[in-house]
Amino acid sequence: MKEVTMDKLVVLCKNRGIIFQGSEIYGGMGNTWDYGPIGVEIKNNLKRAWWKRFVQQSDNSFGVDAAILMNAKVWEASGHTSSFSDPKMDCKECKTRERADNLIENYAEKHHLDIVVDKMSNEEMEQFIAEHKINCPKCGKHNWTPIRNFNLMFETSRGVTDENQNKIYLRPETAQGEFVNFLNVQRTMRAKVPFGIAQIGKAFRNEVTPGNFIFRTIEFEQMEHQLFCKEGTDESFYQDYKKKAWQFLIDLGFQPNHLRYHDHDKLAHYAKEACDIQYLFPIGWSELNGIHNRTNFDLSRHQEYSGKNMLYMDPVTNEKYIPYVIEYSIGADRLMLAVLSEAYEEQPLENEIRVVMHFHPAIAAYKVAVLPLQKNLSEKAKEMYQTLKQHFMCTYDEAGSIGKRYRRQDEIGTPYCITIDFDTLENGTVTVRDRDTMEQVRMTLDQVIAFVQEKITF
Ligand code: ATP
Repeated sequence: MKEVTMDKLVVLCKNRGIIFQGSEIYGGMGNTWDYGPIGVEIKNNLKRAWWKRFVQQSDNSFGVDAAILMNAKVWEASGHTSSFSDPKMDCKECKTRERADNLIENYAEKHHLDIVVDKMSNEEMEQFIAEHKINCPKCGKHNWTPIRNFNLMFETSRGVTDENQNKIYLRPETAQGEFVNFLNVQRTMRAKVPFGIAQIGKAFRNEVTPGNFIFRTIEFEQMEHQLFCKEGTDESFYQDYKKKAWQFLIDLGFQPNHLRYHDHDKLAHYAKEACDIQYLFPIGWSELNGIHNRTNFDLSRHQEYSGKNMLYMDPVTNEKYIPYVIEYSIGADRLMLAVLSEAYEEQPLENEIRVVMHFHPAIAAYKVAVLPLQKNLSEKAKEMYQTLKQHFMCTYDEAGSIGKRYRRQDEIGTPYCITIDFDTLENGTVTVRDRDTMEQVRMTLDQVIAFVQEKITF
């Protein structure tokens, strides 16, 4: 049985220490979320798995961790100052703010119309909304303001006195951190094209319509890999990254029929080719990650705006050129939501329904829960817990019936529960219960360590 809804995920996350509402005791702060003790482990594990795949196991791939605050010229060069905006409309009746493109997309889906909204100008969108009498989804009235383009960058200022303030931005994407460090990485790592620069970090967007839990927030984390290559090889690398991005998701345990490619019809100002991988979220098919062929746009623009020479010289042919970039970008929080949704199952047992999260063991917060069958076995159980803790994240629980304790672990996706019973005192073996099959096998503690270590390798 698979009946995952956003509401069920929100409730589970709140009750099981995965994700809490941001600033909750003050009534919250719209569209901000805090990861709890279980959630932070899961998210860190996702980031680690991603880094392992796209930095450690990739050839010529290097990481950076750039500053969130960047010289404002970066955003002029990247085009964000002039064109990083959404077409917003306000309902004059109830003041709801909507994105015009979303209104049209939702209308087209409902009425089975084949519309490519990405290709429409603001005037065309306004006309479409008027002609089809698309009403406000909140109050049902039709009284929209004209479309205004709304820049998504959060502004702040830097300076000690009011007269001496300079406008700066919270970065809306991590990508520019990789581009402005292209020369530094290439030189210090003696990197030869093709090579990649990866980064995981926070990005901020003043989204017009945030929402759907952690799907679209105003502060989020991106995991990005920029591959620098020679023009002419870009198409084949673009295809490679489409496949690599897909395979990463499959290896995390996603079912292929919950994923699909979506090629973009309208391209961003920098892109030659672009596609998303969409996931069947509880809200329907939506973007999970993007793959873009950004051409040599970014490095060329940084050369123009910074005056620094961005040419790469091929050491074999002595050819000089500005490399093309294939970008692969995935939101860590959006991936978290997809992983939560994919893992969720309500399984009918004899007298109850068990909620179980089928995370890949590498992603689960705790790898092992140590459970003494009875309280008078707790001394031995604690001793074993101390040993296991040296190897991986473990938890210990002696409160309540063994059945209840299993359920608690199932709900946070702990892949293995080990039970300490009276045989443990005699021969040192414990039972290892598998979260998914609920089957149990007996082994020694050394065997448990080796067994779990193998299972949690991503
Ligand atoms: P969308 O069309 O959903 O606004 P986008 O095409 O602007 O997304 P990109 O700029 O390509 O997204 O960002 C790369 C990835 O970052 C997205 O695929 C998504 O996983 C994540 N992401 C983007 N915006 C947000 C957000 N507001 N909240 C959470 N994750 C986001």
